[in-house]
Amino acid sequence: NMSVVKSSLRVPKVTWEDIGGLSNVREIVMESIQLPLVHPELYENLSQVKRRSGLLFYGPPGTGKTLLAKAIANECGCSFLSVKGPELMNMYVGESERNIRDIFSKAREAAPCVIFFDELDSLAPMRGQSSDGGGVMDRVVSQLLTEMDDLHSNNKTTKQKSPSSFGVIIVGATNRPDLLDSALLRPGRFDKLVYIGSPETKEARFEVLRALTRNFVLSEDVDLMTLASSCPKIVSGADLYGLCADAWLFAAKRAIRIHEQRLEHHQSSSFSEETLQVVVCQQ
Ligand code: ATP
Repeated sequence: NMSVVKSSLRVPKVTWEDIGGLSNVREIVMESIQLPLVHPELYENLSQVKRRSGLLFYGPPGTGKTLLAKAIANECGCSFLSVKGPELMNMYVGESERNIRDIFSKAREAAPCVIFFDELDSLAPMRGQSSDGGGVMDRVVSQLLTEMDDLHSNNKTTKQKSPSSFGVIIVGATNRPDLLDSALLRPGRFDKLVYIGSPETKEARFEVLRALTRNFVLSEDVDLMTLASSCPKIVSGADLYGLCADAWLFAAKRAIRIHEQRLEHHQSSSFSEETLQVVVCQQ
């Protein structure tokens, strides 16, 4: 049953440039994921140091966790499999575990591949405590643990030199790491927890705004730093995205209006001309 695996296995378009701030996270990612992918030989004869296979992003909603997972896939040349916790759960006995197995086998075929488990807490809560009375949920957690451990044992037995033996990377995201089964956080599993927070300083908000508007034509009166300072402290990256998307739509509507007025007055105007240039102004 491959129906749960919705995302097409393509390398996402998101790059580091699309992400504002979070440069410390970028470094952690490079060290834990890109290095072993590019230099698998470093880890070949090391039994003590396990290659890291799972990163867990945690923090409030809308802070760029999904965006980061896509950028990791893109920058490491990996295809991307996205799985939302609740989508995977199936009430038929055995079906949810099979979904997990299918996802990992699909990822191995497509290696190098990033599997992104969004809302991981809904998929892998503390065993023995879920509301279904220790049924499906517990078996899903166990299956997930088995699959993650197998990624390591496969590496050892096949001794492949190709990056594909290292090629399945797991990234999880959750707003509630405290709800996760603690076995998931052991070495070789989601063993690197990275906090992804809202942009709390004006500099951080500036970085996010700059990333979000990097393909916009900004009017000269737009000063992103002023905008960043006047935002309330509690905004998330997703809120700033909303702001930029609204500003762009406003500018696009104005450009279309000008275009239509010109046509009415029998002036030449075409969508390819700069009359339709969408210039985003400060409001
Ligand atoms: P959730 O926990 O709700 O799944 P999330 O942390 O995965 O949220 P994303 O889906 O990555 O959040 O972010 C939502 C949108 O907000 C992104 O598509 C992007 O447009 C914008 N965004 C959030 N954080 C950043 C950032 N640091 N830089 C640029 N854009 C950002």
